[in-house]
Amino acid sequence: MAIQVVKANVLGFCFGVRRAVELAEKALLENPEKNVYSLGPLIHNQIALKNLCDKGMIIVNEDEIARIKNESVVIIRAHGCSPDILRELEKKSCLIVDATCPRVKNSQKIVEKKTNDDAFVILTGDSNHGEVKGIAGFAKDNFALIQNADEAEKFVLPVDVKSVVLLSQTTFNVSEFENVSKILTKMIPSLEIINSICPATKERQEALFDLCDSVDGIIVIGGKNSANTIRLFKIAQQNCKNVIHVESACEIPQEFFALEKVGITAGASTPDEIIQEVYASLLNCQL
Ligand code: SF4
Repeated sequence: MAIQVVKANVLGFCFGVRRAVELAEKALLENPEKNVYSLGPLIHNQIALKNLCDKGMIIVNEDEIARIKNESVVIIRAHGCSPDILRELEKKSCLIVDATCPRVKNSQKIVEKKTNDDAFVILTGDSNHGEVKGIAGFAKDNFALIQNADEAEKFVLPVDVKSVVLLSQTTFNVSEFENVSKILTKMIPSLEIINSICPATKERQEALFDLCDSVDGIIVIGGKNSANTIRLFKIAQQNCKNVIHVESACEIPQEFFALEKVGITAGASTPDEIIQEVYASLLNCQL
């Protein structure tokens, strides 16, 4: 019997990652004579990253700017970066290809404006995340990072603060942001809350949830180091009995080809080609 394969209604590249990859492809094509760097890994997907590196892209970390040659092309990834880093690159006369996601850019602009107005900025997020480090760079000293509700409970607002604004890393957990907001509102009744969480993650999770009931197994496609793909895998495990996380079609276990109906989903950094390969591999395999 032929296998039925159903894709989740929303899956794969989010708008910001697609834009960053397209800008990187264009920069590589238009600058064959120059070194083209990505400041940090452009995308949390090893296959997509390798494709870009095979075309000439060089990955350097933010603390390795000294390695970048003058007048090179430097791609700023969707997470963005701090203004200090942009200034360093300008000093090296680099051509900056700014692939900062417009949603992240919006958060950076809000933080910059609020800081210039002498507001105190609180950001919820993960201290190791590139987006958080970049946004923090726009905030000068009137800034605090809160990673979870426990840290919110312990937070002490500095004295003589004019106003306080709370916003979030775009990929932060929605319910944790709500918990932090409630705790801080009790502490700071005049707190201005700006919900800057991106709907891309939630949309993929909801589409997967809708798919789980109608299939015999789910294949989650995406990088093993991609946080949003791992979250999709966990949701699938809670709602479906046959679940596997693969980075490419060759990792699909044989037993999945024996199922009647298989659902597929993919993280926000999984390229269309890999999704299509998995889809075609399931349909073309005859046991
Ligand atoms: Fe932009 Fe949202 Fe994608 Fe992050 S998850 S890159 S904020 S579209």
